[in-house]
Amino acid sequence: MTGTDKPAVLVTGGAGYIGAHTAKALGERGYRPVVFDNLSSGYEAAVRWGDLVRGDIRDGEALKAAFAAHDIQAVIHFAGLIEVGRSTQRPDLFWDINVSGTRSLLTAMQESGVGRLVFSSSAAVYGQGGRGALETIPEEAAKAPSSPYGATKLAGEWMIEAQCRAYGLTGVALRYFNAAGADPSGLIGEAHDPETHLLPLAMAAGLGDGKPLTIFGDDFDTPDGTCLRDYIHVSDLAAAHVAALEVELPAGAFEAVNIGTGTGASVREVVEAVGHALGRPVPHSTGARRDGDPPSLVANPARAKDLLGWEPICSTLEEIVRDALRWEGQPRYGVGNRAARQS
Ligand code: UDP
Repeated sequence: MTGTDKPAVLVTGGAGYIGAHTAKALGERGYRPVVFDNLSSGYEAAVRWGDLVRGDIRDGEALKAAFAAHDIQAVIHFAGLIEVGRSTQRPDLFWDINVSGTRSLLTAMQESGVGRLVFSSSAAVYGQGGRGALETIPEEAAKAPSSPYGATKLAGEWMIEAQCRAYGLTGVALRYFNAAGADPSGLIGEAHDPETHLLPLAMAAGLGDGKPLTIFGDDFDTPDGTCLRDYIHVSDLAAAHVAALEVELPAGAFEAVNIGTGTGASVREVVEAVGHALGRPVPHSTGARRDGDPPSLVANPARAKDLLGWEPICSTLEEIVRDALRWEGQPRYGVGNRAARQS
């Protein structure tokens, strides 16, 4: 999918964090992004690059109507539930929205002749398995999701792969590691409610909103005892989706690709990076391990480079924290400006 006359791309979940950044990247590359989102957790204010169609991913008729109305040629599929903890309490909901939703999308695509799909998958498909704490994870690694969330992402991949084989769909699943940061413009960024992710919580603690950060365990088998994660700037992640859309693959092909940097940062290193950027330490204490947290999740990103020609360009911890802090100083879709609240 190259050339100057770029088509319309449906971005399900495009009002959410990674979806909005991807819609921006598509728009900047000449595509016509059309966001399909029910705004259950996304923000209308995040839809700035292309039209918004309000709809539920499980509603096949609404999807087909959107394909026809906007002359959609490809889909990037983000819509779904993402909170790992909640997935252990409400697995039925996750299977309904993430798995039945993906099934409904695949049927609608097949019935409408839309033949290209990029799927938002996750490193959560791997779990810890029998891997050593410092080993990076290639795509062939054992799949042992440690949460219903991870299981729904793996089920989604399987369903898409089978659909590719059966109907000639072309699919790429991107297994993200830890998305973080914000668009450098400050226009879009992370605004989850409730917020459970390390970087926004560390920034909130450092900016003094009253809740010191709890580090979930410092007795892991890692260099400083805290968990290692592979943090990837959301703008780099967005660029990976465009690359996955454009890679030349035959009809019926399905590829799963890790999207990470290949380098792990510990929870302590993230906390220190935020403290460094703010010029004061982040108040924190150490608590118990969080259920289901593997000690280490770090990508082997070789296939992303080989297949997609993609490499991160702005994913040092310093760049991620810098852009995330800039976003924290913005109105954040009206859901709260931590820097302003503090002054
Ligand atoms: N973490 C933490 N305190 C928090 C939130 C997260 O210590 O308040 C740790 C968590 O245990 C994990 C890392 O930070 O090791 C990244 O967690 P996050 O929820 O941001 O992403 P995940 O790796 O779960 O996708």
